[in-house]
Amino acid sequence: MRDYVDVLIIGSGPAAWTAAIYAARADLKPFVVAGFLKGGIRGGQLMTTTEVENYPGFVDGIQGPELMDVLEKQARRFGTEILETDVQRIDVSKYPFVVETKKGNITAQSVIVATGAYAKRLEVEGGEEFWTKGVSACAVCDGALPLFRDKELLVIGGGDSACEEALYLTKFGTKVHVALRRDEFRASKIMAERVKNNEKIEVHFNHQLKKITGDNLVSGSILVSNDGVEKELAVAGVFFAIGHTPNSDFLDGDLQRDESGYIQVEGFTSKTSVPGLFAAGDVCDKRYRQAVTSAGMGCMAALDAEKFLAEIKDKVSG
Ligand code: NDP
Repeated sequence: MRDYVDVLIIGSGPAAWTAAIYAARADLKPFVVAGFLKGGIRGGQLMTTTEVENYPGFVDGIQGPELMDVLEKQARRFGTEILETDVQRIDVSKYPFVVETKKGNITAQSVIVATGAYAKRLEVEGGEEFWTKGVSACAVCDGALPLFRDKELLVIGGGDSACEEALYLTKFGTKVHVALRRDEFRASKIMAERVKNNEKIEVHFNHQLKKITGDNLVSGSILVSNDGVEKELAVAGVFFAIGHTPNSDFLDGDLQRDESGYIQVEGFTSKTSVPGLFAAGDVCDKRYRQAVTSAGMGCMAALDAEKFLAEIKDKVSG
């Protein structure tokens, strides 16, 4: 393991691998610290996605894990070095950056943060008690488990994730309920229509989850309508699909982030408020959050880092 690098990239999703491909081809010898998704696997959120149909270049779509695999191989092909571990802390007020990992410290002249985001959990009675016992925040990871087979299931949320999860769960459950707090989906029209037209799915508009019930495992839930009427559902699984939180809490020091923790970048660049620290992908993007936009931002971050390093070199030599 090298202990001093010019470009250190943190992450293992499309932003990280694209940054690595560009930095490696610019002969910057990037070093990627590929961490583990909160849930124990590396590769970012695409590892828990099935078919990706909207990533350009794959006419028939590609499975999320396969896409990550080919991007990683492409980064390796140009000489990217990879360390599999989590970054624990970076004090961004000190330069050069000292990146503290579980496998030792690495000093870096520039850092690209591409650590993505993780699925939020709803704080609700029974949510903690039944976590992994019928409560999940990832249908694609857990939906095929025996405890969900041939049972009624519930998805909370009205975004594209909720729709995707509900459709996926129809493969396993007898019926899938979707509860959303407003009278319309946030999801794209095509996804919302697929959900509404699926005869195995029942949508409960204007409802919130009040309680998850059960014994050892989940056996029911109580929804409450916006005008206070309760409804009981005999479900064996509750899946949260209510959005994401950026993985930016390992960054200490004075770095500009928004109120939700998303790293703020300068205009249409990957530059953060700390010179030499760049951000790409879902850790700084709460608007688009697509694999392809993340990949594009990874490219931008590598180009910005390259320019930053060239400017330092000029200062030292001039
Ligand atoms: P979104 O932020 O789009 O949607 C979150 C959903 O959860 C909303 O319906 C929101 O309700 C609801 N919600 C949030 N907090 C609560 C709460 N406390 N109680 C009840 N409901 C709550 O997140 P997604 O993860 O769905 O999508 C993120 C991005 O990823 C989007 O840009 C989406 O398009 C994209 N995506 C694309 C996919 C695809 O193309 N196949 C698949 C999955 C995601 P409300 O609307 O009322 O705020």
